[in-house]
Amino acid sequence: WTEGTQTDADNSLTELAALAETAGSQVLEGLIQRRHRPDPATYIGRGKVDDLGAVVLATGADTIICDGELSPSQLRNLEQRTKVKVVDRTALILDIFAQHAKSKEGKAQVELAQLEYLLPRLRGWGEALSRQTGGSGRGGGAGGGVGLRGPGETKLETDRRRIRHRIARLRREIKSMATVRQTKRARRTRNAVPAVAIAGYTNAGKSSLLNRLTGAGVLVENALFATLDPTTRRATTSDGRLYTLSDTVGFVRHLPHQIVEAFRSTLEEVGDADLVVHVVDGTHPDPEEQVRAVREVLAEVGADRLPELLVVNKTDATDEETMLRLKRLWPDAVFVSAHSGRGIDELREAVERRLPRPAVEVRVVLP
Ligand code: GDP
Repeated sequence: WTEGTQTDADNSLTELAALAETAGSQVLEGLIQRRHRPDPATYIGRGKVDDLGAVVLATGADTIICDGELSPSQLRNLEQRTKVKVVDRTALILDIFAQHAKSKEGKAQVELAQLEYLLPRLRGWGEALSRQTGGSGRGGGAGGGVGLRGPGETKLETDRRRIRHRIARLRREIKSMATVRQTKRARRTRNAVPAVAIAGYTNAGKSSLLNRLTGAGVLVENALFATLDPTTRRATTSDGRLYTLSDTVGFVRHLPHQIVEAFRSTLEEVGDADLVVHVVDGTHPDPEEQVRAVREVLAEVGADRLPELLVVNKTDATDEETMLRLKRLWPDAVFVSAHSGRGIDELREAVERRLPRPAVEVRVVLP
């Protein structure tokens, strides 16, 4: 089932395939069904489930990934009918976040999001779910939810209680970690060092640009979601003013609300920035859609009020026609290539021009 046009559906499915590959899967086949609304019982139409079953048999697939969020019963019904594991977009994205989180806070946030996703889906389906979250090395305690009555019910209740406790504990931990971060942030404000946040759709080239601008040596991966924990680097303007540059969490369409919630505190740092450098992938088939998706998330954390500098990246690989179209569409954008270095000086100048001027100018001598 898909919302929007055929092209939207194709793009969304291509992205889902890329996400699945990032998570370590091999993608065999894609199926799209056009419907007015998802089937309440099976998401796709009941007849289509048989087609799906046939594809599973023909290809030997062991997992079905669905491009949307499935209700607990839709997931259960699909698994029963097709006899293979069914994962939805949300579970897939949560799994990737779990694989990539590096900092203690990032890990705690992902685990919290996973448990909140898991809790309503526990009913009698503990086994399937513990398999789903198994990839992250957690959630293994929910197994064996077969019998719904008698001792099974008790087990389920125990599992639920344990998960609720863990959720409460993670919330407390995250809260105290956020306090530490806020203190650091307050210090920055006191020092009046302007902050630039690099935001943009996942894989747009944020890490590469941060490296270009600061020589930071940040991990660059051709995978969605390489960036989960914000990296902050210092930079200086040509006239010696210090500012910070932070790479932010990757944005993606239909970012599960659990993730937006979990990363709200991290994303809120973007809301504190003096300037948002919004990086767009010039080679993407639908860059406008990406810009829209990113701005939606920015608005959620109140960062839509901030000055935004649009940067079109990967111009080394963008065809001429697209370049012309994008230049007409975004006349104020800076066009760069993090790879070749084209436009980077211009970008640095554009950033400097937009930084607030401190009342008292502090000159910093570089070591
Ligand atoms: P992020 O997810 O936004 O941080 O993106 P990354 O910086 O990790 O880059 C994602 C992918 O795009 C990597 O494979 C990069 O090598 C590639 N990439 C980044 N900048 C450029 C560029 O200017 N040109 C081209 N052709 N590829 C780029």
